[in-house]
Amino acid sequence: MKIIKTIKELREELNIHKKNGKTVGLVPTMGALHDGHCKLIERSVSENDLTVVSIFVNPTQFGPNEDFNKYPRTLEEDCRKSESYNADIIFNPDASEIYKSDSCTFVDIEKLQNNLCGLKRPGHFKGVCTIVSKLFNIVMPDNAYFGKKDIQQLTIIEQMTRDLNFPINIVPCEIIREKDGLAMSSRNKYLSDKERGEALILFNSLNEAAELITQGENSSQKIINMIKDKISRVENAEVDYVSIVNRSMEDTASIKTGDIIALAVFIGSTRLIDNHIIGEPLCL
Ligand code: AMP
Repeated sequence: MKIIKTIKELREELNIHKKNGKTVGLVPTMGALHDGHCKLIERSVSENDLTVVSIFVNPTQFGPNEDFNKYPRTLEEDCRKSESYNADIIFNPDASEIYKSDSCTFVDIEKLQNNLCGLKRPGHFKGVCTIVSKLFNIVMPDNAYFGKKDIQQLTIIEQMTRDLNFPINIVPCEIIREKDGLAMSSRNKYLSDKERGEALILFNSLNEAAELITQGENSSQKIINMIKDKISRVENAEVDYVSIVNRSMEDTASIKTGDIIALAVFIGSTRLIDNHIIGEPLCL
């Protein structure tokens, strides 16, 4: 496995393989890799001749009061894990390689971000679209792998890929959870033991909501109220949003198959997100 830090070197390396007709899979990450990321790598390795894992804590997708500085950076461990899953290349550029000091071009999307994380984190998806476009242009992969854990991000990237005519197949991957249901996240590292227990409220309330919907409940407001009520009973939990949206990320009054229950909850100072797509299994 090669660890590459510059765009020039990465392009040179990839050109050799592309000339030989090899297919390339890209797994964009911010590092602190866990089993959720590893599943993406595993899938890319199984579907492409060559897999590039990018590890880059992208400054432009963090708000001024967010956790950019304290975001976990565990490059050595990440390389070890990626290699054990047979990734071929780690692309780990410095911020100055990606954003030149006179850089002033960004990619933004006009729809899909006026709700959920887009509403709560202004500028976040502009940063995401910009870095993902840059990675697409740098790597020019055949396939790119994204987790359904970040369902709004996945939806936005699918739209952006169509809108900007990137000849790239976006591959959505299932949410990977801990044994007790907590969705894996690099930010889970921030949780104290007590908070780790409290964080289960996200999965548990999605589970209860899914059960009520299976039994016939279709009022979004009733489900949202139930979830908010459950969360309010957890000492260190505070709702950022609880929403039920359609695939256009718009609130729905009456729940239908394919709609999404999406949550963002602060557990102490750690903001966690999770979601469930109605009609799909909510599996561990
Ligand atoms: P991040 O490093 O958090 O930016 O995530 C990189 C990619 O991994 C994104 O496409 C995420 O959606 C995906 N991902 C993160 N956590 C999980 C998870 N628990 N299950 C599936 N995919 C995930």
